[in-house]
Amino acid sequence: MEEKIGLGIELKNTVDYARFLDQQDPLRTFRDKFYIPLVNGKEAIYFTGNSLGLQPKAAQDYVLNELEDWANYGVEGHHFARNPWVEYHEMFPAMLSKITGAKEEELVVMNQLTVNLHLLMTSFYRPTKERFRIICEAKAFPSDQYAINSQVKLHGFDPEDTIIEVAPRSGEYNIRTEDILSTIEKYKDSTALVLFGGVNYYNGQVFNMPAITNAAHAAGAFCGFDLAHAAGNIELQLHNWNVDFACWCSYKYMNSGPGGVSGVFIHEKHFAQTDIPRLAGWWGHDKESRFKMDKEFNPIPTAEGWQLSNAPVISMAVHKASLDIFEEAGMERLIQKSKALSKYLFFILDEINKSGAEDFIEIITPRNENEHGCQISMLMLKDGKKIYEELKKQSVIADWREPNVIRIAPVPLYNSFEDIFRFGEILQSCRN
Ligand SMILES: *Cc1c(COP(=O)(O)O)cnc(C)c1O
Repeated sequence: MEEKIGLGIELKNTVDYARFLDQQDPLRTFRDKFYIPLVNGKEAIYFTGNSLGLQPKAAQDYVLNELEDWANYGVEGHHFARNPWVEYHEMFPAMLSKITGAKEEELVVMNQLTVNLHLLMTSFYRPTKERFRIICEAKAFPSDQYAINSQVKLHGFDPEDTIIEVAPRSGEYNIRTEDILSTIEKYKDSTALVLFGGVNYYNGQVFNMPAITNAAHAAGAFCGFDLAHAAGNIELQLHNWNVDFACWCSYKYMNSGPGGVSGVFIHEKHFAQTDIPRLAGWWGHDKESRFKMDKEFNPIPTAEGWQLSNAPVISMAVHKASLDIFEEAGMERLIQKSKALSKYLFFILDEINKSGAEDFIEIITPRNENEHGCQISMLMLKDGKKIYEELKKQSVIADWREPNVIRIAPVPLYNSFEDIFRFGEILQSCRN
């Protein structure tokens, strides 16, 4: 089997060429592992894996197994289910370590994303009178903005002069790394935490996580990342980059279902400090003595020590179904295909622009393949909303963002080169 998809020197905007690329794709059969939604009786061109990944067909069996074990064993399922519930979450770190570049002890799956952001900020945003600022990206995902804002207020600070946002320069769409680094330098004596996304949800820009982490540490601050749009999408080396903490949701690129469980990374260097401030719960307590129900909290000396509650097994069963697919596909092959898909998509969009006197679309996602993942954001220069509605009618499931942006994210597990070709055809017909 051919392991690399060779786009060749000359890309072609033809269905034959798209199919030729699909034939070479070592991951082409993975599409069959997912339910592709139908629109007007036709398989959709599903480009919103960045928002809600598709359902793995196996997910229903994984969930049914847990329901059966619950029916058959009742409470005994905690120990005698096929995958005992007491340690259900312990299956995940081995799989997630390959997706996130972390050691297994540094990973835990629990709660949901915004909850975990709060838990992690409780430990890693500890402002003092001198060092109280948080540096983040302008236009962060709203939930992150609310979480940061409320944490700042909880500590008695004024968000106005506490939260420093780094924005793109005027006339630009992406935030320059040099501007992030110089902002950290500028506030180096007063910054407690640098908290960025790994990939910006709006324009798809991948941030330079190792450079940001180094700069934060040089300034004496902690550094964390919200990886909602990065996990399962781009290469991550959280341990080696020396990131302090990160969290992500599992329902975007990781296909684990609406409201699915969230993942957390905490660097092992923080495990020795057992009195690190945290909001504790019984599932974070030492496993040997957990059921002795002692009064004193004695945290597990790994990321698991941040757990609060026992594992939501039904939701985790879907996560397991999905991660088993990632395990089989392998992150390296996924990233390789993702890069080929987006290269082809850039080409098709350029072709559409070239077909008229004036540009029709402005791509606001960086073109450099290390600065974008699956998602490409198109700023529609004319009739954006109308085009979006027309795409929908023609069975393209994309995503509209005010004021004028259509986000599309062909993902390597279930999208094909032919999806991209057909999308191009439809978009071109909207232009004509
Ligand atoms: C999707 C997303 C969220 C959603 O948060 P939930 O707690 O899972 O509802 C938060 N932050 C970012 C950056 C996201 O992309």
